[in-house]
Amino acid sequence: MDQRLLTGDDLALRPAGDERNPWLREALADEGNPPPHPPLTGSTDAEVVIVGGGYTGLWTAYRLLELDPQRRVVVLEMDVCGGGPSGRNGGFVNGWWDELALLRDLFGDERALACAREVARSVTEIGAWCERHGIHADFRHGGMLTVSTTPLHDGAWDSSTEAARQLGVGEDFRELSSEEVAERCRSPLFRGGALMADAGTIQPARLARGLRAVCAARGAVIHEGTRVQRVRREGSGVRVITESPEGDGEVRAGQVVLAINAWAAGWPPFRRSLVTWSSWMVRTEPIPDLIDERLGWIGGESIVDARFTVHYFHVTGEGRIAFGAGGGRPGYDGRIGRSFVDDLPAGRRAAAGFRRIFPQLADVRLTDMWGGPIDVAANHLPRFGTLAGGRVHFGFGYSGNGVAPSHLGGRILAALALGSDEPITRLPIVGGVPRRFPPEPFRYAGARILREALIRREDREEQGRRAGWALRGLTRLPRRLGYHLGPER
Ligand SMILES: Cc1cc2nc3c(=O)[nH]c(=O)nc-3n(C[C@H](O)[C@H](O)[C@H](O)COP(=O)(O)OP(=O)(O)OC[C@H]3O[C@@H](n4cnc5c(N)ncnc54)[C@H](O)[C@@H]3O)c2cc1C
Repeated sequence: MDQRLLTGDDLALRPAGDERNPWLREALADEGNPPPHPPLTGSTDAEVVIVGGGYTGLWTAYRLLELDPQRRVVVLEMDVCGGGPSGRNGGFVNGWWDELALLRDLFGDERALACAREVARSVTEIGAWCERHGIHADFRHGGMLTVSTTPLHDGAWDSSTEAARQLGVGEDFRELSSEEVAERCRSPLFRGGALMADAGTIQPARLARGLRAVCAARGAVIHEGTRVQRVRREGSGVRVITESPEGDGEVRAGQVVLAINAWAAGWPPFRRSLVTWSSWMVRTEPIPDLIDERLGWIGGESIVDARFTVHYFHVTGEGRIAFGAGGGRPGYDGRIGRSFVDDLPAGRRAAAGFRRIFPQLADVRLTDMWGGPIDVAANHLPRFGTLAGGRVHFGFGYSGNGVAPSHLGGRILAALALGSDEPITRLPIVGGVPRRFPPEPFRYAGARILREALIRREDREEQGRRAGWALRGLTRLPRRLGYHLGPER
């Protein structure tokens, strides 16, 4: 990262830390800053209890109640609904057409297409759902651009545009010339790119909070400030044991859905399935006119560069640029500690990315900086399933790309909890045995070394300099070992 790119104001900016991030602040203010739902104390029961009040948990609750409005569904959230990444992400609601080469490699043509079609459907359905329920979350179906910002990243999308063409869905992910990219958004760094039509953007916390409101109105019993400590099988059901500042509690239920995202990395059955990394964001002041005049970025496209430690950015409903950078620090032993919300160097890396890509906006102020955890799976795709015994269902591993897939995840998890044989439960992201990461301390050490190597390599490539063979070899090592992490090239 080139610190010299940062302005005096940028250097004064601090991570949100324990404060609410700006998306969630806005969403809570829309609602008149209501108190949280009361925590669980004492004993209660449910047909299905859901742990985690982010998109995955809330879409699962929504689907269960859509199928049977009388069903007793309890949601347990240790913070407030939307307090995790669902209320603080980059707002990309994108399909999987850019993952087509990977999906095809892993699952074959038909099953790859089935996955990509289902996620594309979720993109459209999220927009339609907001419309239907009067959730004003700034959903905009503007497509997503992948762009190269250095000759060394040109054609990074080739394997997926080629897979799309071969599978007869070439229009879903197609190459753009540098002129076509510039017609959509101007940066002196942008070269060629690729366009995915099945993609939108959203104010993420308004979606999470909207889901909370709709689920509660439909009868879900939501307890916030309630941390699940343990889940035990008991007789023909499960017992979920909780703690809160107001006392302990328990839910006896037929089925439990664990929708705890990166926190799953700390739960014994899942420990070796995930690595946690942080992702960081900054946001500009509102500049709708400058975005139009200086960037010509009026089509609502979300944009990512071709780094593995990706930069991702979009224009918000009020005309700000929200700009993120992947590749923050990894967590140790599944703990989601302070480095996920209070890591100034990682936040500055996002700010420097913004300054580098949009030098035309050098006079624009960044007003916010925040971060959160990402649940990275070995194949970079989420997995849904049921533990032995048939009563504990789980979904995680979105790897920083969960807004649209968690809608599909909610439908899958509801079907698993009900034992219903819907076609989506036969998608290849359901069941199966994941590739495991090494145990600690090797997982943390490996993630840390890979992260440093990736950043050094990609920073160097952005300056048009090829990384040395040793650095390239190190960043390719995970691929050689069968992990879909890091660049292939
Ligand atoms: C900075 C950042 C930017 C991102 N940008 C994008 C993007 O632009 N597009 C995209 O598709 N994805 C993005 N993601 C990823 C996306 O936000 C997630 O994949 C998605 O929100 C996952 O939803 P979830 O419901 O599974 O998890 P979460 O939203 O994390 O919800 C899990 C919930 O479980 C709760 N919980 C955990 N443990 C317990 C417990 N023991 N008891 C009770 N509650 C518990 C947590 O408090 C949390 O609220 C980003 C993530 C981050 C951090």
